[in-house]
Amino acid sequence: HIPVIAIDGPSASGKGTVAQLVAKKLGYHYLDSGALYRIVALAAKAQNISWQDGLSLADLASKLNISFKDGEIYLNEQNVSEEVRTEEMGKGASQVAVHPALRLELVSLQHSFRKAPGLVADGRDMATVIFPDANTKIYLTATAEVRAERRYKQLMSKGIHANLADILLDLQQRDARDQQRTVAPLQQAKDAILLETSDLSIEQAVRFVLDQSN
Ligand code: C5P
Repeated sequence: HIPVIAIDGPSASGKGTVAQLVAKKLGYHYLDSGALYRIVALAAKAQNISWQDGLSLADLASKLNISFKDGEIYLNEQNVSEEVRTEEMGKGASQVAVHPALRLELVSLQHSFRKAPGLVADGRDMATVIFPDANTKIYLTATAEVRAERRYKQLMSKGIHANLADILLDLQQRDARDQQRTVAPLQQAKDAILLETSDLSIEQAVRFVLDQSN
């Protein structure tokens, strides 16, 4: 039985950073499930497939050649790490992610990341849908204001001009879309532990997850 640590939570909660550090510390594999939805949004745009067309998106996803190497993301052997991280693809991902057919198509790909010695899986439905038998389930969150501020600082540090009020609005819209969709809505699993990080450092959050997984 290969252990899984499932970390779910809203956009910009810092779960990606925490999940990667936990994986590194334990020598586990890492699944960035959000990247899969971002890749689908990117590939759809390139092929003129609408983000509203669930069946075509599922068909597209079944044919995509996606791989991860050293923290970089590849689509058909091409490094798309930068392209999928844009705000546009974040928005696209949250639109393509509402379609049940696409979500179903991505299930087996996500399961394939479960390899020895273990997996840290980061997303919205890791504990509820994809790995319901995960050994450790964490729901990692922070207030919308704190998350907006974290994203703002992250963008500014990359030299990208941003507006805090716009970021907050965008996050709230994305939260609403993730929580209100009918399939796999963003929610804390019944058996997940809540980790509120508004007043925690990254190190403290990582320590908390490691303590829970022991
Ligand atoms: O985590 P990230 O911001 O990269 O995810 C982008 C979008 O993909 C999210 O806003 C969400 O709508 C969707 N997503 C999802 N299920 C996951 C991971 C991401 O629906 N497991």
